[in-house]
Amino acid sequence: MKKLMAANWKMFKTVADGVQTARELREEVQGDLPEDREVLVLPPAIMLEQVSAVLGNVPGMAVGAQNMYPAEQGAFTGEISPVQIRDCGCSYVLAGHSERRHLLGESDRFVGDKVRFGLQAGLHMILCVGETIEERKAGRVEEVLSRQLEQGVKDIPGVEAKQLVIAYEPVWAIGTGEVAGPDEILTVHRFVRNVLKKLLPSLADEVRILYGGSVKPDNCASILSLDNVDGVLVGGAGLDAQSFSRIVLA
Ligand code: PEP
Repeated sequence: MKKLMAANWKMFKTVADGVQTARELREEVQGDLPEDREVLVLPPAIMLEQVSAVLGNVPGMAVGAQNMYPAEQGAFTGEISPVQIRDCGCSYVLAGHSERRHLLGESDRFVGDKVRFGLQAGLHMILCVGETIEERKAGRVEEVLSRQLEQGVKDIPGVEAKQLVIAYEPVWAIGTGEVAGPDEILTVHRFVRNVLKKLLPSLADEVRILYGGSVKPDNCASILSLDNVDGVLVGGAGLDAQSFSRIVLA
């Protein structure tokens, strides 16, 4: 299965900056991308179409949205639908990023609605899961991840494994420079794989499990070498084309 190397640009960049970064990234990566890697850029919604125009036709590269509302259309002020996301040339969507769970109060159930609806709409959905530092210290990592995974993939339609991706992002490692250690990553990714085996027995071995949390050019290769790590989700180090291309090609 191809390793998925994803950059989440969060609420950064103007449209012109985003297009410029996408062009630089294309220059850096095109022609050098190994067959077993796939690159995904997740820009802010205002520039999905423009960034797709730069990267959409490059083999091995894709563009996705950071969020969507689980309805085709309607009176949902400020939201965007899977239909609109696809119309911008995008094929992926993030669901349940910790910033949306913790800053914007999204519940496990709402995140699950998004995953289900997005898959039905033909999108690839990346379900983000991860514990806070308080939950880790209280020994509740498995309980939290089980709940987020169960609610996140509940009642999903029969999909191909490549349409669903899980991203394990310990909240305490996001944007802090404090990357999880190899043993922590190995243990949690094995646990996630085992939960998936119970929830989705026929897909579990092929669903990609990404690690996210302070991934940088100099720690990426060792993280990717760990069992059950099928790619990375990158925030800060994914904003700059040179830095992200070093991660992509690590
Ligand atoms: C993220 O936002 O998903 C993330 C992992 O951020 P960072 O790489 O900056 O820790």
